[in-house]
Amino acid sequence: MPTYQAPIRDMRFVMDEMLDYPAHYARLPSGDEASPDVVSAILEEGARFAREVLLPINQSGDAEGCLLEGGEVKAPNGFKEAYQQYVEGGWPSLAADPAHGGQGLPPSLAMMLSEMICATNLAWGMYPGLSHGAADALRHHGTEEQKATYLTKLVEGVWTGTMCLTESHCGTDLGLIKTRAVPIEGDAYAITGTKIFISAGEHNLAENIVHLVLAKLPDAPEGSKGISLFVVPKFMPDAQGNVGERNGVSCGSLEHKMGIHGNATCVMNFDGATGYLVGAPNKGLACMFTMMNAARLGVGIQGLGLIEASFQNSLSYARDRLQMRGLSGKQAPEKPADPIIVHPDVRRMLLTQKAFAEGGRMLVLYTAQMLDVVEHGEPGEERDQAETLLGLLTPIVKAFLTEVGFECTNEGVQIYGGHGFIKEWGMEQLVRDARITRLYEGTTGIQALDLLGRKVLMSQGESLKVFTKEIHQFCKAEADNAALKEFVEPLAKLNAEWGELTMGVGMKAMQDREEVGAASVDYLMYSGYVTLAYLFARAAKQASASLEGDDKAFYVAKVNTARFYYQRLLPRTKAHAQMIQAGASSLMAISSEDFGLGFEI
Ligand SMILES: Cc1cc2nc3c(=O)[nH]c(=O)nc-3n(C[C@H](O)[C@H](O)[C@H](O)COP(=O)(O)OP(=O)(O)OC[C@H]3O[C@@H](n4cnc5c(N)ncnc54)[C@H](O)[C@@H]3O)c2cc1C
Repeated sequence: MPTYQAPIRDMRFVMDEMLDYPAHYARLPSGDEASPDVVSAILEEGARFAREVLLPINQSGDAEGCLLEGGEVKAPNGFKEAYQQYVEGGWPSLAADPAHGGQGLPPSLAMMLSEMICATNLAWGMYPGLSHGAADALRHHGTEEQKATYLTKLVEGVWTGTMCLTESHCGTDLGLIKTRAVPIEGDAYAITGTKIFISAGEHNLAENIVHLVLAKLPDAPEGSKGISLFVVPKFMPDAQGNVGERNGVSCGSLEHKMGIHGNATCVMNFDGATGYLVGAPNKGLACMFTMMNAARLGVGIQGLGLIEASFQNSLSYARDRLQMRGLSGKQAPEKPADPIIVHPDVRRMLLTQKAFAEGGRMLVLYTAQMLDVVEHGEPGEERDQAETLLGLLTPIVKAFLTEVGFECTNEGVQIYGGHGFIKEWGMEQLVRDARITRLYEGTTGIQALDLLGRKVLMSQGESLKVFTKEIHQFCKAEADNAALKEFVEPLAKLNAEWGELTMGVGMKAMQDREEVGAASVDYLMYSGYVTLAYLFARAAKQASASLEGDDKAFYVAKVNTARFYYQRLLPRTKAHAQMIQAGASSLMAISSEDFGLGFEI
């Protein structure tokens, strides 16, 4: 069975030494709550919960899957008990508003817990995971009555939430939805339609499920301007706010899927179910984005957790597995062969995992500081800037970390050789589980359009400038630091090139809008690599300054990992830059009909 130890030393390096979280928390009005003792307790206890409770039911949950019987869904054995422990431990309420029963801690702390959950049991993590988005949408857009009825229960974890957006004919283009909402009595609506692929749509972990559903009102305008959001409970709350009568919503079937078998992915039928409007009529898209932004960061963290899980197990295997001798002679002469960790190609794969795990963690914790400021900071320039950066970084966190997450879990299988392909080792499960992260909450293609189109070009490059200016200032300040030359020089060049590439696409897009779509995924990957390069340069700075201390080996390894990243992963930006500049012409030259001229249908 795979093993897991939460990478607390590395988390603390990023939080305490590199990004100065203690000072960051001290500046937040709610920062007193996140005292060093509280932070330590959360990391240690979260690590124990993940390792002792979630990890042991990860492979069994994958093998068992979920069962639909008589309209009820049973999650795999142990999932319900783990969820009870999670609720009793107060974990769901960690970062929620005290006004609704939350503990008021900064969201960054919940994100660290999320990494541990995703590393040990992604499928289980999606039961509580969806509740955050639902709670966020109600907190921002719900009426006081809706908050009183649903929010506290979601925050406590007694009820869980879902996001019901997708229908069989539309996932990306939600303007096409067919689900209808017809006013009935009072402020109630009858919701009718079928949603597919609904994560945690039905299950036995919690006593009620709060569905947030996109539907169209009778007089709604066409397309995305006519979408409204509704809250539709599985059981109607009674006068005391407890579970009452069953509502007209049910699970029609479970999807049979490639991975995350322990999570129930449901077809949900709404048969005149009673629902209540959240936010203004036809403004569901804006409310939906509140749900989706939280969820997108959450999915990026799924990528990170899976990289760490794959890395830790690959490393143990590579130290134990004996095959062949090192190219420069015997490394373990007392053994019949050397452990495969001596081979440069195995090291390449392990270091790719290590660099993306550590780089991904820096990216998540850096972005988490923006989220803390947006959620808990005082209004003003600092919060506005944090909001801009958060908007810019969210699609990068989501898409970059899930793209490299898939790469790294695949490398995990490769490091195990043929054994990686065999189920009992648990490595192929990580690949299957990782595959969905590139798809849901907006595919990589959609995140890339969001980054380049909405965030960067629509702001005339202003949002990007906020970030590239920060990188520029770092490079300028460290220009004379000889120890950092190998990082700062290439970073400064890439940072300047990032702006030039953006301008280049922007200019071309004025002539031909297809240029944005043609460049977008390469642009997103390029942006991800440069962002991690900035963070690795900062990590190298911090580590280089600590080389004389007690934990020398950790800091030496950190600098070496940064060096590997710069020498072996960052060159990928060259290919991405070239592809960004290649433009749309070769992509658009072949007509849709001529694509298949080599065969007859
Ligand atoms: C296991 C699982 C769990 C899920 N959980 C949920 C959930 O809880 N709630 C929910 O509502 N949905 C959920 N989904 C749905 C998921 O969010 C969608 O599958 C996803 O958004 C893509 O939509 P689609 O499948 O309809 O693909 P399509 O929208 O048909 O897209 C097909 C392809 O075309 C590309 N494409 C489409 N439009 C464009 C464009 N304009 N530019 C460039 N490329 C484009 C896409 O990137 C993709 O590669 C889940 C899906 C799965 C498989």
